[in-house]
Amino acid sequence: MTGPVLKTALPGPKAQAIIERDARAVSTSYTRDYPFVMARGEGAWVEDIDGNVFLDCTAGIAVASTGHSHPIVVAAIVDQAQKFLHMSGTDFYYEPQVQLGEELSAIAPMAGPHRSFFANSGTEANEAALKLAKYHTKRSNIIAFFGSFHGRSMGSLSLTASKLTQRRGFGPFVPGVFHAPYANCYRCPVGSSPDKCAAECLRFIEEQLLVHLVSPDEVAAVMVEPIQGEGGYVVPPNAFHERLRELTATHGMLLIVDEVQSGMGRTGKMFAIEHTGVQPDIVTMAKGIASGLPLGVATARSEIMSWPPGTHASTFGGNPVACAASLATLKLLREGLIKNAEVVGAHMMAGAKALMDKHPLVGDVRGRGLMIGLELVRDRQTKERATRERDAVVRECFTRGLLVLGAGQNAIRLCPPLVLTKEQADTAIEILHQALMTVGERRA
Ligand code: PLP
Repeated sequence: MTGPVLKTALPGPKAQAIIERDARAVSTSYTRDYPFVMARGEGAWVEDIDGNVFLDCTAGIAVASTGHSHPIVVAAIVDQAQKFLHMSGTDFYYEPQVQLGEELSAIAPMAGPHRSFFANSGTEANEAALKLAKYHTKRSNIIAFFGSFHGRSMGSLSLTASKLTQRRGFGPFVPGVFHAPYANCYRCPVGSSPDKCAAECLRFIEEQLLVHLVSPDEVAAVMVEPIQGEGGYVVPPNAFHERLRELTATHGMLLIVDEVQSGMGRTGKMFAIEHTGVQPDIVTMAKGIASGLPLGVATARSEIMSWPPGTHASTFGGNPVACAASLATLKLLREGLIKNAEVVGAHMMAGAKALMDKHPLVGDVRGRGLMIGLELVRDRQTKERATRERDAVVRECFTRGLLVLGAGQNAIRLCPPLVLTKEQADTAIEILHQALMTVGERRA
């Protein structure tokens, strides 16, 4: 498959019919920014139901890490499916789950030994981490960050502080959750600048939260994304994570790193936290871990994950087919795709940065590997958020054969499959350029 190829008006007639049926039968809570109706995919290309071919820089929200339907992953899935589909790893044993635990221990971004808890999604992985932290420390409070996204089940949602629509109408939330400013250096929460700052925003935790609101010895954990994903692809300086590690260690709090979006090779290392040298106590994973099959994992040092039988479990978590897909995915990541994310990511980042010279709308370009964000602003001085314009650029990309997603209030995220080639990266940047030009001219 290759492209982009646009044969019909968008949406085409078959897509239109599915979208009409969807409106009657499917929850209205889903956010669909444009009418893409998938029929099949191969690598970084996806074809819609009318035969239009798009370059996919979403990977289904950073999930299709090895590309769509990688033959090795599909073969592993078929092989396992022919043996057995399910036997509940909660009540019985099977080798794919054990082997995955062993392999995750070999790559975990902290010293071992480790154990892993298997779930079905990012939010479930985070629920497991939260419960484990509370259980292990016998403390009840958690600190998270503004702008963070940790999921939508009630525990994770209580930590999520990204968009109001995600929380509005769902309170009250789980008690004992406190939020602190994240090191967003483009919009520094304490008015400092990266050159003269060592993550001053963390002082809020030390000098406000832990002084006025919650006793440090009652905080079980701090949960943090190494790079904020849904919040806008915000990359904090390494000092932020280093200081956070010091602070948590000082007070006996666990450091939980949510690698659901940033992990599994996307940033050019297996885990984004590895760029900082910081070792967490618990790491959570999902999305790209099984190339599209539902799997979430919380991996912790064994000494922490020693809760007794019955304390936490999941019927479907660690499904054998998902574990087989994950084992094949990890092999592909190790054998080349992490490196590709680094190399093609650097190439794509240079292309994205060059867009700043041509388009005043692009206020900031940031990221690591193939996790790249472009923040759109109406004015580079005032940094007024160009939310409408961002939405328009995302739609213009679609009409030109490129799938991208928004992130945060006014950023565009590029999170393609890690099989992306430099040529495909150039195609994506060229389409972004055209889309930005169209939206920029409309504003002028
Ligand atoms: N954590 C992070 C960092 C995420 O980006 C997401 C999803 O976007 C989640 C958790 C929740 O994952 P899921 O949608 O699989 O529950």
